[in-house]
Amino acid sequence: MQNKTPCEVVIIGAGVSGLSCARALHRNDISFTILERSARPGGRIKTDQIDGFQLDHGFQVLQTGYPGIGDYLRLDDLRLSPFPAGVRIRHAGRFHVLADPRCHFKHAASTIVSPIGTCRDRIRVLTLAREVSARSMQEIFAEPEETASEFLRSRGFSADFISRFFTPFLAGACLDQSLQVSSRVLKYVMRLFTTGAATLPAEGMAAIVSQLVSGLPEGSIQYQREVTRVEPGSVTLAGGEIIGADKIVLAVAERELGAVLTAASPRPSVGEACLYFSADWRPPFQEPFLILNGDNRGPINNIAFPSLVSRTYAPPGKTLIAIVVLGQQFIGRDDLEDLVRLQCTEWFGSAVSQWQHLKTYRIHHALPLQTPPTASPYQAVLPGQAGIVVCGEHHSLPGLQWAMMSGARAAETIIRPSSGD
Ligand SMILES: Cc1cc2nc3c(=O)[nH]c(=O)nc-3n(C[C@H](O)[C@H](O)[C@H](O)COP(=O)(O)OP(=O)(O)OC[C@H]3O[C@@H](n4cnc5c(N)ncnc54)[C@H](O)[C@@H]3O)c2cc1C
Repeated sequence: MQNKTPCEVVIIGAGVSGLSCARALHRNDISFTILERSARPGGRIKTDQIDGFQLDHGFQVLQTGYPGIGDYLRLDDLRLSPFPAGVRIRHAGRFHVLADPRCHFKHAASTIVSPIGTCRDRIRVLTLAREVSARSMQEIFAEPEETASEFLRSRGFSADFISRFFTPFLAGACLDQSLQVSSRVLKYVMRLFTTGAATLPAEGMAAIVSQLVSGLPEGSIQYQREVTRVEPGSVTLAGGEIIGADKIVLAVAERELGAVLTAASPRPSVGEACLYFSADWRPPFQEPFLILNGDNRGPINNIAFPSLVSRTYAPPGKTLIAIVVLGQQFIGRDDLEDLVRLQCTEWFGSAVSQWQHLKTYRIHHALPLQTPPTASPYQAVLPGQAGIVVCGEHHSLPGLQWAMMSGARAAETIIRPSSGD
C-alpha cells in the first residue's frame, strides 16, 4: 500500500526531539509530517491532571542552567518556579541542609558544621562547583572521562560524603545509584545546579510540549501511527501502509530504535518509580529543598514537594509529595506503597498515615545508562543511512536540552546538507 504523495520529510516520534526538529524545518519552510505511535505528543514528558493536582510522569525538572535552553523554549511563558539551591539530606535520624551559602546565608553555619562528610569535603565541593561553572558545557564534554566514583575518589572526597551526598544526588539526575556514570555527566549536572535552577513550569512539565506543538502547522502530527520499518525513501506503518519520504528523521527513544532500524544497539536503560501523595500536612521546614536519602537504605532516593515550589501543582490547602524510588529490586514490587510509607513514617512521623496515595508511575526504561564512554551532545554524530537521520539520545545523552538540540541538529542536516548528513 504505497502512499501517492511523498512528504518532503517524515519525522518518527513526537517527543521533544522530534518536535524540535519539526519546528526548525517549519521555520525554514520545509514541509514535514510527524508520525507518532501514541495518542499524544511529548513522549517521556507528560503531566496528568488529577483532582486539581499536576502529576508529571516521573519527577522531572526543567534546568535553567542548560546553556541553550532559551533558544528552544520561551521560558517566560512557562512561568517557572525554582527549587531552592541546596539539598536536605536524611541521615542518622535527622535532616541536614547543604545549601549554597551565596543564596541561603542562614544555612551557611549549619552547612559548615553538618555531619555529612568533613569540612574538607565541603570545601572540595565548593571548589568543584566553582570549577565546573567556570567552564563551558563544550569544555566539560571535551574532558577525559572516567566513572563518577573514580573521579570523586581522585578528587579526595571521603567515602562518607560520596555515599551520603553524591550517590543520591547524582542518582536523582541519572537514575543510577552505582556512581558508574561518566565523570562528564557528574560535572555537567553540577554545572546545571550551580549556574541555574531546577524549576517547575506552572502548568506542569507538559507545558513544554504544548509550547513546542503550538508553533507547528495544524495537522502536521499524525497520532496512533506506529512505524515498523524504515528504509531510505520510505517508512512502513503497522498495518502495512508505506509512506514515501525524501528524508526520514528517527526521533524515538534509544531503546525503541532497534524496532525500526536493524543496526541499532541501545545502551542498558535505568528506571524509576514515582509515587505521588496528597496531604493536608506541611513538612516541618520552610524551604522546599529536594530531600536526598543519605542513609542509602530503603526504597526512597529523593523526595520533593512540588506544590511548595509551584502552588499550581496542588489545590489550595493541599501538599503534593513526589517520592522517587530507584533500583529494580524496588520498582516492580507490589507492596511499594507500604514500603515507602514505612520509610516516610520514620522520617516524618505518624502524619504519614493521613497521606493519600494519588498515583504510582513505574517507568522501567526511563533513560539510557550514562556510563563511559559518552559522546558530547555538541558533537554527536547523527548516525543514519542515506536519507535517514537519527536524533534524540543516540550517541548523545538524555535530557531536555540535549533532546531539543539533537532535533534541531537533525533538521540542520536537512536544511543545509553540507552540515553533516
Ligand atoms: C522519569 C524521567 C525523568 C526525567 N527527568 C529529567 C529531568 O529532570 N530533566 C531533563 O532535562 N530530562 C529529564 N528526563 C529526560 C527527558 O525527558 C528525555 O531526555 C526527553 O524527553 C527525550 O525526548 P525524545 O524526544 O528524545 O524521546 P521520547 O520522549 O522518548 O520520544 C520518542 C517518541 O517516539 C514515539 N515512538 C517510539 N517508537 C515509535 C514508532 N515505532 N513509531 C512512531 N512513534 C514512535 C514515542 O511514542 C515517543 O512519543 C527524564 C526522563 C524520564 C523518563
